[in-house]
Amino acid sequence: MRVLVTGGAGYIGSHASLRLLQDGHDVISIDNVSRGHAQAEAVLAKIGGDRYSPYRCDLHETERLAEILTSHDIDVLMHFAAFAEVGESVDHPLRYHHNNIAGTVSVLRAIDQAGTSRVVFSSSRSTYGEPAEDQIPINEDTPQSPINPYGASKLQCERMLRDLAEAYRRADRPFSYAALRYFNVAGCDRQTRLGEDHRPESHLIPICLHTALGKREKMAIFGTDYPTPDGTCIRDYVHVEDLADAHVRVMGVLEPGDERRYNVGIGKGFSVRECIESSKRVTGVDFQVDEAERRPGDPPELYADVSKIKRELGWEASITDIDETVESAWKWFKSHPDGWPEG
Ligand code: UDP
Repeated sequence: MRVLVTGGAGYIGSHASLRLLQDGHDVISIDNVSRGHAQAEAVLAKIGGDRYSPYRCDLHETERLAEILTSHDIDVLMHFAAFAEVGESVDHPLRYHHNNIAGTVSVLRAIDQAGTSRVVFSSSRSTYGEPAEDQIPINEDTPQSPINPYGASKLQCERMLRDLAEAYRRADRPFSYAALRYFNVAGCDRQTRLGEDHRPESHLIPICLHTALGKREKMAIFGTDYPTPDGTCIRDYVHVEDLADAHVRVMGVLEPGDERRYNVGIGKGFSVRECIESSKRVTGVDFQVDEAERRPGDPPELYADVSKIKRELGWEASITDIDETVESAWKWFKSHPDGWPEG
C-alpha cells in the first residue's frame, strides 16, 4: 500500500515508517522537523530507496498536503505528527491547540480534498485522564476525561474523526479510521537503526539512560508515597516495534465504515523503581537516584486492558520484559550518546 505518514521523522513515526518499508509498502513521509530529526529520514531513505519519499511540509499546509496525497494516490494516512509533552501542554496550551488540533483540522481538510479513505490516528492514554481505581486496567469504554491540554487535544482529534466518518457515511463516501490509544511507548529499533531523542527529555526510561551515560549527574523519582506496592507510579510500557506492528495490523483490516478504537499497551505495569532497577541492570551502571516530590498530575497506576485489540486484531505485545525494552533503548543511546546529529 501507499502510506502517508505525518511526523515521519519523529520517534514513533520513524519506527512505523521502518516497519512499513520492511513490509514492502511505499512510505510518503511529511515532517517539518520541529521535533523530528532529518537524520532519521536519512536512515529510512537508505533502507527504503525509491519506496520512501520524505517531504519537508507542515501540517498547516493544507493545499500542499492535498497535492501530496493526490499525487501519490495514498491508500492510508497515518497521523503521528503532534506535540506530546504533557507538562509543556499545561504551560503552553495554545501551542497544543494550534499544532495538534488545528494541525489535524488541516490534515482532515486535505483528506477531504484528496478523497483519502483510511486513517490511522495516534491517540493517547492521556485521553482517559485519571480513571478511578476501579477502572484500572483501562479499557476502551473507560470514560475519556483528559486532565491536560495534550490529552484534550488528542480527544478532540478523535471526535473530529468520528464526526467526519459520520458525515461521510451520510454522503455515501467510503471512509474508515482507527484511533490507537498508546500507553507509555518505550524502547528503540533493536537493530539500532532508529532511536528516541526528545529535546528536552522528560520520559522516564530515556532519563534513566541519560543518567547511566553520565549526561546527567543524577535523576529523581517523582513521588515515593503512592498507594502502590513500592510507593512509586506504575505505567504500561509498550515497545515501539510492537506499536508499529499494531499500526500495520489495523491498517490491514480497515473496511469502509469502520471506526475502530484500541488501547495499545502490554496489559501490565511496571513501577518507576522497577524501571530504574531494570536500567541499572541493563547498563551495569549504579547511577544516583534521589527521591523527590510527586509531579503534579501523575496518577498512581495506569495500565491497559488490551483484550479488545487481541480479540479483534490478534495483536498482543511480543516484548513484555522491561529489561528487553530498556536494552533496546540502551543500545541506541550508547551508540548515539548525543542523540541524532543535527541536519
Ligand atoms: N518519572 C520519574 N522521574 C523522571 C521522569 C519520570 O519519577 O525523571 C516518573 C513519572 O512521574 C511517572 C513515570 O515516571 O510516574 C512515567 O513518566 P513518563 O514521563 O515517562 O510518562 P507518563 O506516564 O507521565 O506519560
